[in-house]
Amino acid sequence: MALLGERRHADDERTDEAGASGHPGAPGPRVPTGRATTADGLGRAARIGPGEQVGPSWPGAQGGASGLTELLSRTGREATSSVIRDLLDWTRRPDMLSLAGGIPAAELLPVERVGQAVERVLADRGPAALQYGPTDGEAELRALVAPTPDRGDEVVITTGSQQSLDLLARVLLDPGDVVAVESPSYLGALSAFRAAGARLLPVAGDVGGLDTDRLEAALAAGARPKAVYVVPEFANPTGATLTAARRRHLAALAERHRFVIIEDDPYGALRFAGPPLAPLADLTPMAVRLGTASKTLAPGLRVGWALLPEWLRGPVVRAKQAVDLHTSTLDQLVVADVLADAVFLNDHLDRLRAVYGRRARALGAALARLGGGRFTVDPPAGGMFLCAGLAPALGLTADALLPAALDAGVAFVPGSAFLVDPAEAPAATGGADTDRCDGERRLRLCFATLDEDGLAEAVERLVAAVDRAVG
Ligand code: PMP
Repeated sequence: MALLGERRHADDERTDEAGASGHPGAPGPRVPTGRATTADGLGRAARIGPGEQVGPSWPGAQGGASGLTELLSRTGREATSSVIRDLLDWTRRPDMLSLAGGIPAAELLPVERVGQAVERVLADRGPAALQYGPTDGEAELRALVAPTPDRGDEVVITTGSQQSLDLLARVLLDPGDVVAVESPSYLGALSAFRAAGARLLPVAGDVGGLDTDRLEAALAAGARPKAVYVVPEFANPTGATLTAARRRHLAALAERHRFVIIEDDPYGALRFAGPPLAPLADLTPMAVRLGTASKTLAPGLRVGWALLPEWLRGPVVRAKQAVDLHTSTLDQLVVADVLADAVFLNDHLDRLRAVYGRRARALGAALARLGGGRFTVDPPAGGMFLCAGLAPALGLTADALLPAALDAGVAFVPGSAFLVDPAEAPAATGGADTDRCDGERRLRLCFATLDEDGLAEAVERLVAAVDRAVG
């Protein structure tokens, strides 16, 4: 289907964040135009979901009618919208059960505690809470998110970890530089690297995360990545956790071959099974560790952070200065207030882990019980995603299943959305990504936003859709 055959751009992450999914050929909501008419008559970027901008809405801004698109830069040309714009409408259908989300459960967002924090911060700080602040962030928040309070100087506060990815891409990558990524990989990271003109080297992974032997083979074949991107804990979309042995191997490869490890860890605090593992940043100075308040507190606060070695700090801070001067002072102080409240925080995280753990187990059990061998399941040890595979014997890809699934009233994101197009890869890959077919059989299922009954019903619909699709 066109959605999945297209090259993906920054804007495509709308699928991921808003949890939408759909397909252009099936009956359903009309493709929205993205136009927003505003009181001033000029229009402005239309907000269609969490953090999503459809783009400028004045006549001709998107298309060639005005003949002005030649004024766009390469980034401006390539970051165009796509058919994914229509997907949100699919999940808005009242009868749709969406496993396509990449968002926390609304009922677990700490509305009351954040409200108290806003009041307290404004009362205690007054105008300072609403003033410009330092580009690298508020000192108290930096100390709170650092590995130890005395290491706050190593932290730069960012506007979500998406901005950390963008800033790192800006300061590390020139057009044509190679970034190795686990395949499949978080779409927002791929978008940030693509926007910097990088070539993406996909390296297949499995339930133990990125296969570092394959990475080593690609390096031996001549691949020269400047950076390797991994989500070591409960990855998006695979749910996989990078094993301790592979972490050590990756750290050693980074030191030997001089590449930066971008360790993106939004989900680490959401572990509901198994013992914690040492972060890559504890194993090697070549790792840059990214965190965020999005999955543990609230994504709308837009507060993330990067733990950076000294040589990267100055460049990242200068790049950030040019982008947004600094992350919202009020939001930073609110996050600091909540993070400093250990009693609340521990309770809140325990609750998230308990609810997400229950939901993950319920989804896995429903796939096994109701799936009748149609699905393979790698149970995640935390996070928000379970990656199911369609049994190879079905001869069915997730893309081919999607229309029937939407008709049956269940949405998911097909694995192909997270794959790197082989045409994007550099010449030397050493066969690092030989499991593309496996990726195309995968379904990213978010268990965070449906309760156990909803998840079981969603699986029943998926089973019916599989039968119709192979029928
Ligand atoms: N990295 C990964 C792996 C993610 O899944 C997400 C959100 N979906 C982000 C980064 C961005 O998160 P935020 O900008 O909200 O911190």
